[in-house]
This record gives sequence, structure tokens and C-alpha cells, in this order.
Amino acid sequence: MINFMQIYLVGGAIRDKLLGIPVKERDWVVVGATPQAMLAKGFRQVGRDFPVFLHPKTKEEYALARTERKVGKGYRGFVCNFDPTVTLEDDLKRRDLTINAIAQDKNGKLIDPYGGVKDLNKKILRHVSSAFTEDPVRILRVARFAARFGDFRVSRTTTRLMQSMVANHEIDALVPERVWQEFERALQEQYPERFFIVLHNAKALQTLFPEINPYLSYCRKILILAAKVKAKNTIRFAVLFSKATLDAVKSFCKRYCVPAAYKDLAILLVKHQNEFKQAKKLNAHELLHLLEQTDALRRPERFNDFLQACSLISDNHIITYLQKAYKIIAELPLNKVLEEKTSGQKIQQQIRKLRQEALGKLINLCCE
Ligand code: ATP
Ligand code: MG
Repeated sequence: MINFMQIYLVGGAIRDKLLGIPVKERDWVVVGATPQAMLAKGFRQVGRDFPVFLHPKTKEEYALARTERKVGKGYRGFVCNFDPTVTLEDDLKRRDLTINAIAQDKNGKLIDPYGGVKDLNKKILRHVSSAFTEDPVRILRVARFAARFGDFRVSRTTTRLMQSMVANHEIDALVPERVWQEFERALQEQYPERFFIVLHNAKALQTLFPEINPYLSYCRKILILAAKVKAKNTIRFAVLFSKATLDAVKSFCKRYCVPAAYKDLAILLVKHQNEFKQAKKLNAHELLHLLEQTDALRRPERFNDFLQACSLISDNHIITYLQKAYKIIAELPLNKVLEEKTSGQKIQQQIRKLRQEALGKLINLCCE
């Protein structure tokens, strides 16, 4: 059997090469082999549900060609067949999009039974076969690829297929971890707003992200802006939720086990964006309160992210003012107060007084 083993490069590597963009990682498919044959060649098995092997030297992934059949509900309801008779065409057929279902043999010849090259040229995201409906993660992947490739459109039949998956509740089988994984990856793409638009067109937005659904056109605008300034992901996430209620942010984060760095900044923005917008009208006491509430002194980096997020959602130029206010209290000499032999509470009061006085000077200066 070893003699008949054929190895092909597949998936993203071929797609990206044909698009002329840098290839990040290479995935391989092996036809005509058994797990034993792979192990005998020094590969290390890593796949749990199906046989994937790491190359002994390059550590790249080599998967045995396989077919998948849906037998039950949910993530693990697949039976997969990877015996050596599975052909390359069989394997390509179980893939999500035609542009991801192109293979290349060792001589550089492309094997493209589902019209991936044509769709790449026409810039279309199109499902490979009706088996697409068997895995709802594919809906999120389509939306994510739309967020990556800004000039690609989703084929109308694929959109209809995705709509049917929502209507048939096939989308309900998604597990939170996978949703968040795709969400996070989509957010950092160049056109993150397209992720939500594609999901909206697929009628999946309300089901998956009801917190975002009412603000779609706002979300679109704000994400375009955030991507334009290459804002980092936590900031993109925060501005996306800036029109939502605190409860909505919390429930989203809980449902999808969103990491704290995302959640904290989003909550900070929802809670304090109005004070930010009014910052120039705040008196010294209120200004200090805002800096304290946003934990500016202890978490200057997050405070900076907060300011950046605020600058995206607001027209005014308050950032420099608040940066000045932060600098004033961060650099205020406190040795005298700290050296006093008095209670901790008194020292705290003294420090607040000094800070308010310093901020008061800034306010007066700005009013002049
Ligand atoms: P990326 O650049 O994001 O890595 P990729 O296309 O390489 O894009 P991977 O997640 O690395 O995506 O998957 C490799 C290949 O496996 C895909 O190109 C696709 O052919 C196939 N694939 C991955 N996930 C699925 C899925 N849920 N359903 C069908 N095919 C999939
Ligand atoms: Mg890949």
C-alpha cells in the first residue's frame, strides 16, 4: 500500500498561492495510505476524531483522505471513513468552499473537481456540495472568509443553503467555543463588518448574536472605522457593543465564554462612554472619578485602549484632554503625603485632594 501513497497540498495554501498572498501554513492530504503506513514512515498521529499526522521534520499536518457522513446531531455526530480507497475527489467533496477544495500534486498540477479556480477568478464564495449543511461551523467560516476577502461575494445558492440551515435549526448545533473562535478571527480581518452582514443575509445574526442584530448598520460603520485605523481586537469588540446595554454585553460574554480582556473593555466602554463624551464639562471631582472608575492609574494600557475606543465612537477630540488629565495625576509627586505619619485613610484623602487640585488647574487652564 505504501507504494501507492499519494500526497497533495490542499486548502488554504493553494487558495492563497493562487490569490498571490503569502501562505501561512500548509495542509496536506494523503491518498491510499493507512495509519500504520504513516506511522511506519515516522509521522506522529495527532487527530482524535480522524487520522491527522505531523510530518517528522516539517511538523506540517498530513490528513488521510476521508469522507464524512452525518449520523447524529451536534458536533460529534459524524462518522468518518478514511480507508485507503477514499479518493482525492471524495475528500475534496467534504470541504466547505470550492476555493478551499483545490489540491495540487507533487508536480504542481492542480486537481480542481468543483470549480474552485473559476470561483477564485470570479471572486465567489460557494459551497462545494449540499453536504455543506452537515456542519454549521461552515456558516461562520463563509462569513469569516467574506471578512478576509473584501472583494468576494457569497453565491446566492450558498446564502439560501445557509438560510435553510437556520430555518431547520441545524445552526443550533454550534458549540460556544467554536462560535467565539470564528468570531474572534473574523474580528481581526480587514473587513470585519462583512462577517456580520453575511450572517445577517443568512438570517443567522438574530439567532447567534441577537445583541448585535438591532444595531447592524451602526456596527457596520463602526467596524469599518476600527479596521481602517487597524484597532486591536479588544477595541473592535468593545466598539461593536458600544450601543448595547450592559446586560446584553454580559449575556453575550457569558454565552460565548468571552475572555476577560474583551469583556472588561467592552463593559468599561458601555458604562463610561457618556462621561467620556462629556469629559470637558466635568468638574475636578467628576474628572477624577472618571479616571478612578476606569482604573487609569493601575491599568494605563487598558485606559489607553478605552480612550482609543472612545475616539472611534465619538466625534469630539477629548482624548488629548483625558491623556493630559491622566498624566497630571500619574506624575503628581506624592512623597510628602506618603511620608506623613498618619492613617492610611487620611493619606488617601490627602492624595485625592491633591489630585483634584491638580485637575482643577487643568480645567481652569482649558476654560481660559
Ligand atoms: P486559514 O487561512 O484560515 O487557515 P484554511 O482554508 O487553511 O484557512 P483551515 O481551518 O486551516 O482553513 O482548514 C484547512 C482546510 O480544511 C480548508 O481549506 C477546508 O478545505 C477544510 N475545512 C476546514 N474546516 C472545515 C469545515 N468545518 N468544513 C469543511 N471543510 C473544512
Ligand atoms: Mg489553514
